[in-house]
Amino acid sequence: MGALSGWVCLVTGASRGIGKGIAVQLGEAGATVYITGRNSLTLGETAGEVEARGGACVPVTCDSSKDDEIRSLFERIGREQKGRLDILVNNAFGGVQTYFDNLGKTFWEMPPSVWDDMNNVGLRGHYICSVYAARMMVQAGRGLIVIISSTGGLWYDFNVPYGVGKAACDRLACDGAVELRGAGVAMVSLWPGAVRTETVLENVLSRDPGSKAEEEVSVSVCLYKKLMSLSGKVLLTCDLSRRYNLRDLDGTRKVILHLSRFLVSRVPGLSWLSSFIPSFLRVPKFVLTLRASKF
Ligand code: NAP
Repeated sequence: MGALSGWVCLVTGASRGIGKGIAVQLGEAGATVYITGRNSLTLGETAGEVEARGGACVPVTCDSSKDDEIRSLFERIGREQKGRLDILVNNAFGGVQTYFDNLGKTFWEMPPSVWDDMNNVGLRGHYICSVYAARMMVQAGRGLIVIISSTGGLWYDFNVPYGVGKAACDRLACDGAVELRGAGVAMVSLWPGAVRTETVLENVLSRDPGSKAEEEVSVSVCLYKKLMSLSGKVLLTCDLSRRYNLRDLDGTRKVILHLSRFLVSRVPGLSWLSSFIPSFLRVPKFVLTLRASKF
């Protein structure tokens, strides 16, 4: 029997990429996993994979930019699972292709609609889903809400609307956790490193080898164990994979984002220095925030 046997989980945007990896891992751990996306065909493929690993999967076609579809989704889960929802993973994101199509452009060079591509589904949609999930979880006195965010929440990545949206995702988790704490429900933001999803592979094949979606994601299963002590925090999958001894399918570990050598290698003009820095040397994570200090 899996660690999450009897649990009910929802992963939004699970027809491919990181969401698919999360759904597969939650299913393998024994949970019943509801998955969403706009394309019933690819959703069905994910569901097949979850079930092939021994999990139960319920694919639901749901557009995260449409409030009424989100409401029906949660009503359905409430009805079918007698009000039970243990984990919500807010992952749906409609902007990956857009940011690849606009690489190198400033915010005034891109069409204004890029804002909506980054943030309608990947921020507003997360908020609406979290509202409905919190109602169920608070009633039950337990639950975990995860928001898939990124380092873009701290420093410049891709474009302006992307960073604004990710900073808001982190803040949504932190502030949401404040209000949920008394109810026994945790809310966290999770930063994956670079992940070799289908879309990333298509766009940057062989430029930046990252981890596979699935590794990221066994992490989500482990998160629940430390629930309330982690609530309100931004979590780095590179740290979690070490804490829980998780590796990628090819046996590799994730790059630690706060290794001194890695950080220095990203500073323009100073990257040559990185080869002189011992590979084990880490900086405390608050140092990362200095780079983005607003004061
Ligand atoms: P992806 O491969 O493009 O997958 C996005 C998922 O969201 C798909 O299942 C897609 O399915 C779904 N989706 C898109 N629009 C939707 C809508 N309107 N309603 C419902 N579902 C929708 O993206 P990803 O790379 O896995 O990224 C997921 C999250 O991880 C994003 O927040 C991203 O910023 C973050 N992240 C990714 C990486 C990386 O290296 N990939 C690194 C750090 C952070 P349909 O198109 O079928 O609807």
